[in-house]
Amino acid sequence: MSMPPRTVLKAIVLGDTGVSKTSLMNQYVHKNFGEQYNATVRPDHWVTKEDLQIDDRLVTLQIWDDAGNDRFQSLGDAFYRFADCCVLVYDVNVMCSFDTLDNLHEEFLKLAIPQDPDKFPFILLGNKIDIDGGNCRVVSEKKAKEWCAAKGNIPYFETSAKEDHNLDAAFLSIARAAMTNQDEIYLGVPEAVPETDQRGDGCVS
Ligand code: GDP
Ligand code: MG
Repeated sequence: MSMPPRTVLKAIVLGDTGVSKTSLMNQYVHKNFGEQYNATVRPDHWVTKEDLQIDDRLVTLQIWDDAGNDRFQSLGDAFYRFADCCVLVYDVNVMCSFDTLDNLHEEFLKLAIPQDPDKFPFILLGNKIDIDGGNCRVVSEKKAKEWCAAKGNIPYFETSAKEDHNLDAAFLSIARAAMTNQDEIYLGVPEAVPETDQRGDGCVS
């Protein structure tokens, strides 16, 4: 029996300190949250999600946290150039974590230098929606979606790392987008034929 082709994709998670980058990675991959997590085995920088099934492919999603010391760019410039997608995270209860997204988005593109910045796969997660039943949130879903629309229709998910809400859907979505984008880069998408090159008469010269 032949194995389905396996694709390895690298995601980078960006967001202010405390928005939940480490927590959501651990919850998504290890199904573990907060205090229960053994501090000595808590990964600093990356986790790996194996065997994500996307159509007829198996995907290994490597998720990197650029926050060894919660300083943007702590992974180094070269690192960004190998990223297949970027997960932006903010805390729906903390306005400044939302305000900083413009900067993170812009800085990421500057460092990653993707072939086509307009097509590079981003996703935005509005996290910690569980807190106080949503009563202390300061960024509305509408506002977040407007930001996403203005950045070229970035997909948006509301999540809770604590309650494992929407993480599978969010990461599957970004993995799928990254795979499609990688296919387009490596396999090439057919170029549109310029009108001047098109023969409308069906003649063979
Ligand atoms: P990071 O600095 O972005 O890596 O953030 P952490 O993952 O270390 O999380 C910061 C704090 O927020 C920790 O005390 C977490 O337990 C807490 N936290 C993370 N995600 C959630 C969530 O979804 N809900 C709640 N209530 N707390 C969370
Ligand atoms: Mg962290």
